[in-house]
Amino acid sequence: MPTDPRALHFDPLPYEARLETRPLSQVDLVVLHCTELPDLATAREYGERVLYPDSGTGNSGHYYIDRDGSCHRYAALDRIAHHVRGYNPRSVGVELVNGGRHPQWLDSRHQAMEEPYPDAQVDALIRLLHALQGELPALRYVAGHEDLDTAMVPASDDPAILVPRKRDPGPRFPWQRVLDAVPLQRLA
Ligand SMILES: [Zn+2]
Repeated sequence: MPTDPRALHFDPLPYEARLETRPLSQVDLVVLHCTELPDLATAREYGERVLYPDSGTGNSGHYYIDRDGSCHRYAALDRIAHHVRGYNPRSVGVELVNGGRHPQWLDSRHQAMEEPYPDAQVDALIRLLHALQGELPALRYVAGHEDLDTAMVPASDDPAILVPRKRDPGPRFPWQRVLDAVPLQRLA
Protein backbone atom coordinates (compact mmCIF):
# COMPACT_ATOMS: atom_id res chain seq x y z
CA MET A 1 0.00 0.00 0.00
CA PRO A 2 1.49 3.38 -0.90
CA THR A 3 2.36 5.71 1.95
CA ASP A 4 -0.13 8.50 2.51
CA PRO A 5 1.80 11.63 1.50
CA ARG A 6 -0.19 13.60 4.08
CA ALA A 7 1.36 11.61 6.91
CA LEU A 8 4.07 13.26 8.97
CA HIS A 9 7.26 11.24 8.99
CA PHE A 10 9.68 11.50 11.90
CA ASP A 11 13.25 11.29 10.59
CA PRO A 12 15.43 12.91 13.26
CA LEU A 13 18.87 14.06 12.19
CA PRO A 14 21.75 12.07 13.70
CA TYR A 15 22.77 15.19 15.66
CA GLU A 16 19.27 16.28 16.73
CA ALA A 17 20.07 15.70 20.42
CA ARG A 18 23.13 17.99 20.12
CA LEU A 19 21.12 21.01 18.93
CA GLU A 20 20.47 23.56 21.67
CA THR A 21 17.07 23.43 23.34
CA ARG A 22 14.56 26.27 23.76
CA PRO A 23 11.14 26.86 25.29
CA LEU A 24 8.38 26.71 22.68
CA SER A 25 7.08 30.03 24.03
CA GLN A 26 9.99 31.87 22.35
CA VAL A 27 9.08 30.67 18.84
CA ASP A 28 7.10 33.36 17.00
CA LEU A 29 8.30 32.92 13.40
CA VAL A 30 8.29 30.34 10.59
CA VAL A 31 10.98 30.78 7.93
CA LEU A 32 10.18 29.29 4.53
CA HIS A 33 12.99 27.94 2.41
CA CYS A 34 13.45 25.87 -0.69
CA THR A 35 16.21 23.32 -0.77
CA GLU A 36 17.75 24.43 -4.11
CA LEU A 37 18.66 20.76 -4.52
CA PRO A 38 17.29 18.11 -6.88
CA ASP A 39 15.48 15.89 -4.37
CA LEU A 40 14.79 15.09 -0.73
CA ALA A 41 17.55 12.48 -0.48
CA THR A 42 20.16 15.07 -1.48
CA ALA A 43 18.68 17.59 0.95
CA ARG A 44 18.96 14.99 3.70
CA GLU A 45 22.64 14.42 2.85
CA TYR A 46 23.30 18.16 3.12
CA GLY A 47 21.34 18.37 6.37
CA GLU A 48 23.31 15.55 7.96
CA ARG A 49 26.71 17.10 7.20
CA VAL A 50 28.51 18.22 10.32
CA LEU A 51 29.66 21.79 9.70
CA TYR A 52 30.25 22.91 13.29
CA PRO A 53 32.77 20.51 14.86
CA ASP A 54 32.45 22.03 18.35
CA SER A 55 28.77 21.11 18.61
CA GLY A 56 28.77 18.28 16.07
CA THR A 57 25.86 19.87 14.19
CA GLY A 58 25.12 21.27 10.74
CA ASN A 59 22.56 23.27 8.75
CA SER A 60 19.00 22.06 8.35
CA GLY A 61 15.37 22.99 8.68
CA HIS A 62 12.96 21.41 11.16
CA TYR A 63 10.57 20.21 8.45
CA TYR A 64 11.01 19.16 4.82
CA ILE A 65 8.06 18.96 2.43
CA ASP A 66 8.57 16.94 -0.73
CA ARG A 67 6.94 17.70 -4.08
CA ASP A 68 4.24 15.05 -3.41
CA GLY A 69 3.27 16.71 -0.14
CA SER A 70 4.96 14.24 2.18
CA CYS A 71 6.26 15.98 5.27
CA HIS A 72 9.35 14.95 7.21
CA ARG A 73 10.43 16.24 10.59
CA TYR A 74 14.20 16.37 10.98
CA ALA A 75 14.37 18.26 14.27
CA ALA A 76 11.89 18.73 17.12
CA LEU A 77 10.42 22.18 17.68
CA ASP A 78 12.17 22.59 21.03
CA ARG A 79 15.57 22.36 19.27
CA ILE A 80 17.29 25.35 17.66
CA ALA A 81 18.11 24.32 14.09
CA HIS A 82 20.56 26.28 11.92
CA HIS A 83 18.69 27.47 8.84
CA VAL A 84 18.82 31.28 8.75
CA ARG A 85 21.32 33.87 9.92
CA GLY A 86 20.22 35.81 12.99
CA TYR A 87 16.76 34.30 13.52
CA ASN A 88 17.34 30.69 14.54
CA PRO A 89 16.45 30.84 18.25
CA ARG A 90 12.96 32.25 17.58
CA SER A 91 12.07 30.38 14.40
CA VAL A 92 10.99 27.12 12.79
CA GLY A 93 12.66 26.29 9.48
CA VAL A 94 10.45 24.73 6.79
CA GLU A 95 12.19 23.52 3.64
CA LEU A 96 10.29 22.86 0.41
CA VAL A 97 11.98 20.50 -2.02
CA ASN A 98 12.56 22.61 -5.16
CA GLY A 99 15.56 22.84 -7.48
CA GLY A 100 15.87 26.60 -7.22
CA ARG A 101 19.15 27.73 -8.78
CA HIS A 102 20.78 24.28 -8.44
CA PRO A 103 23.51 23.53 -9.41
CA GLN A 104 24.75 27.01 -10.35
CA TRP A 105 23.47 28.83 -7.28
CA LEU A 106 25.61 31.93 -7.58
CA ASP A 107 26.10 32.06 -11.37
CA SER A 108 24.77 35.42 -12.57
CA ARG A 109 23.37 33.72 -15.69
CA HIS A 110 21.32 31.20 -13.68
CA GLN A 111 19.43 33.28 -11.15
CA ALA A 112 15.93 32.40 -12.36
CA MET A 113 14.08 29.95 -10.13
CA GLU A 114 11.72 28.39 -12.60
CA GLU A 115 10.44 25.26 -10.91
CA PRO A 116 6.83 25.75 -9.77
CA TYR A 117 5.58 24.61 -6.37
CA PRO A 118 3.04 21.78 -6.93
CA ASP A 119 -0.40 22.08 -5.32
CA ALA A 120 0.21 18.97 -3.18
CA GLN A 121 3.31 20.60 -1.71
CA VAL A 122 1.61 23.94 -1.00
CA ASP A 123 -1.43 22.18 0.51
CA ALA A 124 0.90 20.24 2.81
CA LEU A 125 2.66 23.45 3.82
CA ILE A 126 -0.68 25.07 4.72
CA ARG A 127 -1.63 22.00 6.80
CA LEU A 128 1.73 22.15 8.57
CA LEU A 129 1.37 25.87 9.33
CA HIS A 130 -2.06 25.25 10.84
CA ALA A 131 -0.63 22.44 12.98
CA LEU A 132 2.26 24.65 14.11
CA GLN A 133 -0.19 27.32 15.18
CA GLY A 134 -1.73 24.75 17.49
CA GLU A 135 1.65 23.82 18.99
CA LEU A 136 3.35 27.21 19.25
CA PRO A 137 1.41 29.69 21.39
CA ALA A 138 3.52 32.71 20.34
CA LEU A 139 3.57 31.99 16.59
CA ARG A 140 2.65 35.17 14.67
CA TYR A 141 4.99 35.65 11.73
CA VAL A 142 6.10 33.94 8.55
CA ALA A 143 8.99 35.03 6.32
CA GLY A 144 10.92 33.82 3.32
CA HIS A 145 14.63 33.19 3.76
CA GLU A 146 15.10 35.83 1.05
CA ASP A 147 13.27 38.37 3.26
CA LEU A 148 15.64 37.88 6.19
CA ASP A 149 19.00 37.34 4.48
CA THR A 150 19.40 40.01 1.82
CA ALA A 151 23.19 39.80 1.51
CA MET A 152 24.64 40.16 -1.99
CA VAL A 153 27.78 38.24 -2.93
CA PRO A 154 30.10 38.16 -5.96
CA ALA A 155 28.79 35.90 -8.73
CA SER A 156 30.70 32.67 -9.31
CA ASP A 157 31.09 33.39 -13.03
CA ASP A 158 32.03 37.07 -12.69
CA PRO A 159 33.08 38.57 -9.35
CA ALA A 160 32.24 42.07 -10.65
CA ILE A 161 28.54 41.14 -10.59
CA LEU A 162 26.67 40.75 -7.30
CA VAL A 163 23.94 38.13 -6.83
CA PRO A 164 21.74 37.35 -3.81
CA ARG A 165 23.28 34.86 -1.39
CA LYS A 166 19.78 33.57 -0.62
CA ARG A 167 16.79 33.77 -2.92
CA ASP A 168 14.55 31.09 -1.51
CA PRO A 169 11.69 30.36 -1.72
CA GLY A 170 11.84 32.72 -4.71
CA PRO A 171 9.47 34.29 -7.23
CA ARG A 172 7.41 31.16 -7.95
CA PHE A 173 6.34 30.73 -4.34
CA PRO A 174 2.55 31.39 -3.97
CA TRP A 175 2.68 33.85 -1.07
CA GLN A 176 -0.85 35.13 -1.49
CA ARG A 177 -2.36 31.67 -1.41
CA VAL A 178 -0.52 30.78 1.78
CA LEU A 179 -1.25 34.08 3.54
CA ASP A 180 -4.93 33.81 2.60
CA ALA A 181 -5.09 30.33 4.16
CA VAL A 182 -3.11 30.94 7.35
CA PRO A 183 -3.50 33.86 9.78
CA LEU A 184 0.20 34.71 10.00
CA GLN A 185 1.78 38.06 9.20
CA ARG A 186 4.63 38.20 6.68
CA LEU A 187 7.76 39.57 8.24
CA ALA A 188 9.57 41.14 5.32
ZN1 LIG B 1 16.97 28.96 2.77
